[in-house]
Order: sequence, then C-alpha cells, then structure tokens
Amino acid sequence: MSDASRRDQLAESLRALRARIDAACARANRAPDDVRLLAVTKRFPAADAALLLDLGVANLAENRAQEAVGKAAELARLRPAAPARWHMVGRLQRNKARSVVTWADEVQSVDSPALAEALAKAVRGRAELGDGPATMDVMIQVSLDDDPARGGCPAAGLPRLAERIAESGELRLIGLMAVAPLLARPEGAFGRLAELAATLRADHPHATEISAGMSGDLEVAIEYGSTCVRVGTALLGGRPLASP
Ligand SMILES: *Cc1c(COP(=O)(O)O)cnc(C)c1O
Repeated sequence: MSDASRRDQLAESLRALRARIDAACARANRAPDDVRLLAVTKRFPAADAALLLDLGVANLAENRAQEAVGKAAELARLRPAAPARWHMVGRLQRNKARSVVTWADEVQSVDSPALAEALAKAVRGRAELGDGPATMDVMIQVSLDDDPARGGCPAAGLPRLAERIAESGELRLIGLMAVAPLLARPEGAFGRLAELAATLRADHPHATEISAGMSGDLEVAIEYGSTCVRVGTALLGGRPLASP
C-alpha cells in the first residue's frame, strides 16, 4: 500500500476513534482532554508510527521490548524533529530494564519490587552517562483477576510496591494500569480498578492516572475514569501475525 493511501486509512480510523472517545467522555461528563490516546504500534512498522506522528498522535506504545528498541530508533531517523513519546505497556523482565530505558519515556507495566529496583538502577545509569533524564514516569500494572500468568501485581501487593517506587529517587509513580480480564464483563473489572486507584491516591496524591481501555472496551473504561486508553486494532487494523 502506498504511503498516501495508508495515511488516508489511518486518518479515517483516527477520526472514528476520536469520535468514540469524545462520545464516551460526553456521556461520562468528562472533558476529552482528560483522556490520553496511546497508539499501540506493536507488529506494525515504524512507517506507520511516522504517519501517526504526522496526524498528531505523539503518544506511542509497544508491548515487547525487543521489537520496540529497533522501531523507536527507526522512527527517530524517519521523523527526527517530531516529538514522539514512547510507552512500554507489556510484560517486562528485569534483565530488559537497561534496554527499555534507552527508548521508553514511560513504563506502565511495573508489577514487582524487583522490576522497580532494576528500572530505577537503569535510569540512574543512563543519567550518569548523560544518555537521558534522571527520572522516569511509571505506572503499576495491577492484576484484576489475580491470575499471575497474565502479568500485573496482585491487588494485595499494591501498597508495598507503591512504597518501593515512591522511595526511589528515579521513578515517579503516576498511576495504575490494567488489562480487563478476558472472560469477565469489563464493568466489574474497571469498577474495581477505580476503587484501587482511589485507595492508592490517598497515600500517593500524584498517582492520578488510570490507564485502561483498549479497542473493544474503551467506552466502559472512560465511564469508570480511565485517563489513558491504549488502542491498537481500532487505529491500525488487525495485527499481522509475524513481527516485522
Ligand atoms: C495490544 C495491547 C493493547 C491494544 O489492544 P487492541 O485491542 O488492539 O486495541 C493495549 N494494551 C496492551 C497492554 C496491549 O498489549
């Protein structure tokens, strides 16, 4: 597909997506500016990320560290002057922390004290080398079904993990992230997330963000207070099976 027709396609899905977000905000009596849109570009090429930047979508997200590192570098070559902001939203192993801080501006998937420690150390290391800022915005990914296989910190572990992050000089805790469980109704999951976020805010007043809602459930997430929706399919189309 030519760049121009892909651009038209992305412009059209972006228009439809913004209309969905605006309508959901209107129903919930919220300002559309309250909800950040992250474009999840996983398994799509850097060329698509470049077209999204041209269309005004600067917040980009990836779920695999390995794929993201090359894509972020290629995007920087394609659009050197454009202000992309990269978000890590997928499961992250401790030994990838050093690599993640080379491209990510924000990590939404912190789910253990050990990972928080590794990230803090990596941020410190990059700052000492003059390779980036001395702090990183992070969210805690919370598990809404307490199924450890799907990632996320169990709700019971939240206070301790939040405390660890708050103690570090490098990580700034800005909120909670979650993926709705596959089989449950999203209303219950996002309602529970809103309660957990309110409890967290009582001890950590700067942790005001709730990252929730994807292509299929963003209206419900916005109804329950999401400040950040992460959208792949509804923007970019069905994902190719193989990684580029
Ligand atoms: C892929 C992914 C998304 C986007 O999902 P869609 O249903 O394609 O919008 C959001 N969040 C995370 C963590 C993801 O891995």
